[in-house]
Amino acid sequence: MKTEITKLTALLIVCLAFGILFAGCTGNANGSGQTQAQTPAQTQDNTNTANTANPANPANPAVADERITVAASILPQKEIIESVGKDKVKVSILVPPGFSPHTYELTSGQLRSIADTDLFVSMGSGIEFELAWMDKIKGVNPKMPVVNASEGITFIDGYTEEDGTHVSGGDPHVWLSIENAKIMAGNICDALCKESPENADYFKANRNEYIAKLDALDGEIRESYSDMKDVTVMTYHPAWSYFVRDYGLNCISVENNGKEPSPSDLAALIDTAKARGIKIIFASPEYSTKSAYTISDAIGGSVVLIDPLSENYIENMRSVADAFKTASIQN
Ligand SMILES: [Zn+2]
Repeated sequence: MKTEITKLTALLIVCLAFGILFAGCTGNANGSGQTQAQTPAQTQDNTNTANTANPANPANPAVADERITVAASILPQKEIIESVGKDKVKVSILVPPGFSPHTYELTSGQLRSIADTDLFVSMGSGIEFELAWMDKIKGVNPKMPVVNASEGITFIDGYTEEDGTHVSGGDPHVWLSIENAKIMAGNICDALCKESPENADYFKANRNEYIAKLDALDGEIRESYSDMKDVTVMTYHPAWSYFVRDYGLNCISVENNGKEPSPSDLAALIDTAKARGIKIIFASPEYSTKSAYTISDAIGGSVVLIDPLSENYIENMRSVADAFKTASIQN
């Protein structure tokens, strides 16, 4: 981005000169002399559309984009980065919709695109995509700062083998806790402030605004869950341990260390579901739903899809919270 500034300044001068000449010839359609450029207040309100316009000069898309280019691994990071950076950032996410960060392989085109990226926000939670690709990502752009979004998060012990031994460090699904999302927003804010110190007050105000939204949602969920006692949810993919920890639920996973459950695992899960009166099995769009249906058929229940990788973070966390609440009533 920085190397573009000299070119950009030259281009701006040419465009301005041309613009003045052009305006002088034709006059202004509405006679007010105002351009269509958004005021800062308008751009702040338009977070959803900010990245489709060119804030450098919305009236002239030919002018180079001055936004900080930010790359990150998974879709839930997008809303958090955009909420803090708003119109000052352009975010690209490497694991596309419908793919799992436990298995996704970066394409050579994606790797090339990182060479022009200003900042990388890693999830930093030990998710396999980053374990496999972080060295190559750093290799194509050694000067790019890499921020760890999970800095300061307390991990829950992760995967365990059948014999009970831990095979890796913490559970990598840290983003599925509203408390952790607040920490992520803080880390992302610090990184953006370092990248663009002149906008630090703006980023900090945006961070505070987003954290206030997260706090409001957390309060809503706590209120909604206040009458729920000893609730167990059964999910296919073991993504929700941070969420259930935050709200005092229990969670049983169908998937076994990244694999489909064996027939004996399935039989045990069916027994557990029956014993605990579970009627809803939660599955996810990125993963197989087959064994979730096997269990729900056996218990006369149903399968409900929830998404651990939704791009609309707050909206998705609210709908998952509602789905768990509904399950607790039906179970
Ligand atoms: Zn996962």
